[in-house]
Order: sequence, then structure tokens, then C-alpha cells
Amino acid sequence: MRLIVSNIPEGGTNIEFEKDGEWFRGRLPEPVSCGSVPDRITVSCAAWRMNETVFIQGTVSTTLDMRCCRCLEPVRLPVESSFKYTFVPLPLHPGEECELSADDLEFAYYKEDSIDLEMVVFEQIVLQIPIKPLCADSCRGLCPHCGINLNTASCGCEAGGFDERLAALKKFKI
Ligand SMILES: [Zn+2]
Ligand SMILES: [Zn+2]
Repeated sequence: MRLIVSNIPEGGTNIEFEKDGEWFRGRLPEPVSCGSVPDRITVSCAAWRMNETVFIQGTVSTTLDMRCCRCLEPVRLPVESSFKYTFVPLPLHPGEECELSADDLEFAYYKEDSIDLEMVVFEQIVLQIPIKPLCADSCRGLCPHCGINLNTASCGCEAGGFDERLAALKKFKI
């Protein structure tokens, strides 16, 4: 999905389109374990411009399939990301562009009268990928001794002398 800058009407325009998980995977630089996108990616945005400066504001919605970092069970996370970008034309002469820092994520260049909206969508989804996904905040994870999933089962490891104080505490609570 490319937006032709000179075609954007004075009063702005609304753009809606969809992409799928296949498209997302194809754009990843290499297969990574950051999760997959099982459902449709829905994009809804508005674009308007002042001369050559283009403003784009909208939302990206989809879901991400990942694994819980504590218990390794699959987790499906909803993604709903609002974005806002300001695009200016890339200067014709190299060296005239301003240095962009990490703080300028919402500021970008376009060239040849065209803006790649898919780049925006891809970036928004990547930004939403949690570093440590959890199935639930209260996830108890795996037992470090026997590997059992402590959310669904219990084991005798702690009581078996691995940590006497913890075991005592557990009995006290019961
Ligand atoms: Zn978990
Ligand atoms: Zn155990």
C-alpha cells in the first residue's frame, strides 16, 4: 500500500486496508522467535497534507501469537496501536537532511512523491512485541528443579529440601 502524495486531497483522506500474517513474516529480516501474526492486520488511518508535509494518523489492530516467558505456554496477545507520523520529502541534495534520532520515530522522509504505508504498519507491530510476554501476571512458571508447569500442577521439589525456609513458609500458609 503506497500513498501518492500529490493525490492527497486538500481536505485529507481516509485509508483502510488489510494485511495478513504471511506479509508480516515476509518483512522480517530473518526468522525470529518474536512470535507470529495469526490473524488479519487491520489498518485504518487518515492522511492530510500542507504543501509537501504529510500527516498520517491511525490505528493498527491484530493479534500476536507468542510463548509465555515463564511457563512457555502459547499466549495470544491483542495488538492495538495508535500511530501518528509526519512525513517530509527527502532533500534532493545529500547532507541537507536532519539527523534523526531514536526520539524522532514519528518523523520520517518520503521520496518520489510516494509514502510506504506498509513500512509504518510493520514498524507499529514490531514496536508492540513485548520482550517478556506473560500468559498472566500471576503466572507461576516452571519448577526450576523438575520443570513441571506450576500453574497446572504441583511437585514436591521445594518440600524435598531445596529450600527449607520456603517449604516452611508454604506449610504455614496452608
Ligand atoms: Zn505463563
Ligand atoms: Zn518440581
